[in-house]
Amino acid sequence: MCPTASFGLPQYETERLLADRLAELGGRVERGVELVCFAQDTDGVTAVLRGPDGESQVWADYLVGCDGAHSAVRKGLGLAFTGDAFPEEYMLGDVQVDWNQPVGYGIRSMHQVDGNTDDVLVAIPLPGRRRYRMSMLVPDVLASAPAQQDGVEHGLESDRAPQLQHIQAVLDRLAPEPTRASHLRWSSVFRISHRIVDRYQRGRVFVAGDAAHIHPPTGAQGMNTGIQDAVALAWRLALAVKGMAADGLLESYDAERRPVGEEVVGRTVRHARAGFETDDPETMLRREAQLLVAYPDSPLVGEGAGAEALKGGPAPGSRAPDCRGLRRPAVAFPLRLHELLDGRRHTLLLCADEAEQLAELAAVVALARDRAKGHVDVRLVLAADSEISDDTAGGLLDGPPVPVVRDSAGEFQTAYGAVGGCCYLIRPDGQVGFRAGRTRAEELGAHLAKVLAA
Ligand SMILES: Cc1cc2nc3c(=O)[nH]c(=O)nc-3n(C[C@H](O)[C@H](O)[C@H](O)COP(=O)(O)OP(=O)(O)OC[C@H]3O[C@@H](n4cnc5c(N)ncnc54)[C@H](O)[C@@H]3O)c2cc1C
Repeated sequence: MCPTASFGLPQYETERLLADRLAELGGRVERGVELVCFAQDTDGVTAVLRGPDGESQVWADYLVGCDGAHSAVRKGLGLAFTGDAFPEEYMLGDVQVDWNQPVGYGIRSMHQVDGNTDDVLVAIPLPGRRRYRMSMLVPDVLASAPAQQDGVEHGLESDRAPQLQHIQAVLDRLAPEPTRASHLRWSSVFRISHRIVDRYQRGRVFVAGDAAHIHPPTGAQGMNTGIQDAVALAWRLALAVKGMAADGLLESYDAERRPVGEEVVGRTVRHARAGFETDDPETMLRREAQLLVAYPDSPLVGEGAGAEALKGGPAPGSRAPDCRGLRRPAVAFPLRLHELLDGRRHTLLLCADEAEQLAELAAVVALARDRAKGHVDVRLVLAADSEISDDTAGGLLDGPPVPVVRDSAGEFQTAYGAVGGCCYLIRPDGQVGFRAGRTRAEELGAHLAKVLAA
């Protein structure tokens, strides 16, 4: 048995948060409308939709298939979806229990014979008093043939709902102490496959989420990987629809995200079959939280002169770490670095500790502003002990003032290995796109040319 600290946000709550955010941005989900088919040419995509009022056609620049394991978009593109199904069937149930386990901890308990698992109980805490989502193997009495017709056996099959007695029987065998389950709120049977597409894009059509990769729910990676696909694609598409994407920018979505999908599918299959690997707990938590996702081999990341001086800083393609203690002129409270990042535009962090560096940085600011046409926010980070005054720094750079923060706690210096005159370009998805120990306008310009159309 293996108890782990865990915080379960129910799916309905996740959906509510996403729908609310979409509404804030002016969008809405149209329920009950089905994509029937689509066709694309060099100019756009025509989709046939079926809704309550019958069929209609929509023309769009791009189509993204976020339509799950049985994706019509994936099938319409004719993508291979290679992998297999696990023979086991599982059941889920949201119940209340009367055990005395610590609040907020999950329980993972299994029985093995000759290294093969023949009984499983995973209990994930949900909001509510002693309420858990139990995940278990299906007993023979509930087992049935796969229901899906398309050969992809994956997901919930709510037509066969396990009852309280089925869950109680597993608790009697595997609970950490004598336990009674009650108040069954929802239950379902589910099957698991592990599959991944051979490409995430064809022309103007993309796949993301379960449409692109499915795997065991071990480690809670599925939805999170899908959302990261969507984030990675969204900032590229945002530039493309404005006609500002460099050649190859959209293609780099597949180059970055497919290796991540392959790693997640492989890891979750290993964990489901053999249990979790014996990483140190912090690395394991960081990996499961997807903070270690990186794109070191992406064609879209790079570094310039003097990068070797940035000791301990995030490498190109890595997640830009947060840090605290950034102070602004005349403002009493400090900022976190992530508060400086917009999430829609790139952010260029320029660092200075001596006034002589500002002239060269001014040329970089001018280049970034001219080249990026409003798609790069520039911020100047002064070293804690720098004698440059905040006003001097902002004023020495030409054009509109550059926001200045001072690394008063030295946390930025530690997290980024920052040296005077260095830069980090953080992408909208929070990964480092480019860095240099000695910032040169022409090197930054060459990097931006891979992202932004001239
Ligand atoms: C038992 C279980 C537990 C899990 N636990 C976790 C967890 O703890 N953490 C985690 O991160 N992930 C978890 N996952 C995985 C997670 O549920 C999925 O990865 C995630 O829901 C995939 O999201 P998606 O939007 O890509 O696809 P889906 O959630 O499948 O959504 C696809 C949507 O597209 C719609 N659709 C399908 N076809 C069409 C069409 N032709 N036209 C219009 N709409 C269409 C569907 O109705 C659906 O609304 C779990 C999965 C299972 C089975």
